[in-house]
Amino acid sequence: MEGIPSVLLLRGDGIRAWSAGGSLLAAENENVLLSAAGDRITWGGVMVLDSPIDVWAPGGLLVDGRRLPGRIRISARNGGIRAVAVVPLEEYVAAVLSREASPTFLPEALSALAVAVRTYTLLAMASPRDPDYDVVAGVEDQVFEGVEGVGPGFRAAAAATRGEALYYGGGLARTVYHSTCGGRTEGSAFAWGTDLPYLRSVVCEDCRKSPVWRWEYRMGREEGRRVALALGVRAGTDLGFGIAGRTPSGRARYVRLTSGGVTRELKAAQFRKAVGYRRMRSLWAEIVPVGDGWLFTGNGYGHGVGMCQWGANGMAESGASYREILARYYPLTRVASLPGSPVPLAGSAGGGF
Ligand SMILES: [Zn+2]
Repeated sequence: MEGIPSVLLLRGDGIRAWSAGGSLLAAENENVLLSAAGDRITWGGVMVLDSPIDVWAPGGLLVDGRRLPGRIRISARNGGIRAVAVVPLEEYVAAVLSREASPTFLPEALSALAVAVRTYTLLAMASPRDPDYDVVAGVEDQVFEGVEGVGPGFRAAAAATRGEALYYGGGLARTVYHSTCGGRTEGSAFAWGTDLPYLRSVVCEDCRKSPVWRWEYRMGREEGRRVALALGVRAGTDLGFGIAGRTPSGRARYVRLTSGGVTRELKAAQFRKAVGYRRMRSLWAEIVPVGDGWLFTGNGYGHGVGMCQWGANGMAESGASYREILARYYPLTRVASLPGSPVPLAGSAGGGF
């Protein structure tokens, strides 16, 4: 895989390494260079160890200059080597929450989101290489940011829902979420082509207080041409953009690019990615030519599928419980405790095989 290094430098005082089974394999005082030898790990150029190994130092470890929390799992495969911070599931849930949600959210909204994050994480752990899972990159980034400095509200939400996950039928639900739906969530069938009965469009007026309930963005002509070029269209001065078909929730399905008498239609999601997610905040948008460019106006922020976070907070302000919030955005699912809960460990990676 692209971007996986073949060597890693560990720095720390009193570094120790254990096998996956827990036997002490090696110790090093200050730093040690690890490299991949096929599917095995070379320790300091002298020992070859079976992958994976766990490493730890009493004062913490720097892995290629980055401080990773707690115990680190190192694994090698096909000549690539990677480091994974191994953190307890509930700490992990609190850390993701702290990044995804506003600290101003009410406890019931944070609890609903904690259940969604936990479920999503468990599902991603069960199928980490599924290319449909955009969680993988997010999970990896999150773990590398570590679990230090997570606010008490986020920890409380994880603790209040400890071990609880959302199920549909016999399995974990795919509990996707987004910032603000803008008035109506999107069905998974229209966003991703997979119709999940608990991810269908629902009306939501509870996200009105979101700063991105309504938004606009002005795009200049040069920027428009760069976007077109990124999408494979070399545009002249007559470049035009337009929405070419919408999903039942009102979100753009296709966008049409015209220039020099040539018209090209592409998926609206691809267009939004090229414009930039923070500029074109959602597909629920209009594009109007103005002056020397275009005016984008739209509703909400994010893909719009599953739980609307600002809507969850609006519901909490109206007195809804976290279970009521979950039932609204993920109808037909049920909350249950994990079998044999708590699950001991959640881990993730940088780069991924
Ligand atoms: Zn909403």
